Amino acid sequence: MSATIIDGKAISVDIKNEAKNEALELKKRGIEPCLAVVLVGDNSASRVYVNNKKKACEYCEIKSLSYELPEDTTEEELLSLIDELNASDNVNGILVQLPLPKHIDESKVILKISPEKDVDCFHPYNVGAIFTGGEGFKPCTPAGVIELIKRSGCEIAGKNCVVIGRSNIVGKPVAMLLMAENGTVTICHSGTKNMSEICRNADIIVVATGKINTLTKDMVKEGAVVIDVGINRNDEGKLCGDVDFFNVKEVAGFITPVPGGVGPMTIAMLMKNCVTATKMQNGIK
Ligand code: NDP
Repeated sequence: MSATIIDGKAISVDIKNEAKNEALELKKRGIEPCLAVVLVGDNSASRVYVNNKKKACEYCEIKSLSYELPEDTTEEELLSLIDELNASDNVNGILVQLPLPKHIDESKVILKISPEKDVDCFHPYNVGAIFTGGEGFKPCTPAGVIELIKRSGCEIAGKNCVVIGRSNIVGKPVAMLLMAENGTVTICHSGTKNMSEICRNADIIVVATGKINTLTKDMVKEGAVVIDVGINRNDEGKLCGDVDFFNVKEVAGFITPVPGGVGPMTIAMLMKNCVTATKMQNGIK
């Protein structure tokens, strides 16, 4: 039997529509959610990401302010712009597109963003909240992974979950969010010895290694849920994930494709965080 393909594009549209409805409700109360997007330098990939974020804002009725700064912007200048955006009552979310030019210390920039406006969830305050289970934003890609699983009707509570990858931006937060949903979580990494065996025991497997074919058919239990975060290019230059999709889908119960799985979820969750930030800043539950 072949797996159900999880349609990340369709789910991301649902989430954007929810964010849009909430933004429209806020507008009725005279509050306009606003995201400030800061781009430094002329990295072409970053420009594409920033444009996609602006388009999503437009779709979701969220105002976007764009700050496109030259490559030679100093760290001081960038930090003082963030100060201004932190202080502005009209700005609810601040997003500084990474990577930054080498002469700017990214960690200083991340620390400067007010945690209430840190819709990317990179500030240590919000990162800490993922571990303590407190209030705060959830990081966009990991939160998108959880939404894909839940909205496909798959239960996380009580399930054996395996996360392959332990980066700060994907693997670790995904593991924490799965645990918050009462999953029993194992994290695998390059030092893991019996990964195939661990995976074969899993009901849910999230793969985030950036390595093609990290997860193969022989590692997957029949009916398991497989979420592929990876973005790679194969020998033919085609976009692909970390999972051997064509073979794994023969045994999995649910599987995300690449492209069209986790990818579109990241921006959708960013939109959701912008609305949440606006509500929090206006004392609205
Ligand atoms: P990193 O390179 O920071 O981390 C990769 C992790 O995978 C590391 O923990 C590494 O282990 C582990 N790993 C690598 N190879 C193996 C292996 N063969 N077996 C077991 N573990 C392994 O990557 P990111 O977490 O930043 O990203 C992962 C993938 O997700 C990339 O393809 C990236 O492009 C994609 N991505 C997609 C996003 C989206 O929106 N869809 C957003 C962010 C990332 P160790 O720690 O031991 O080195």
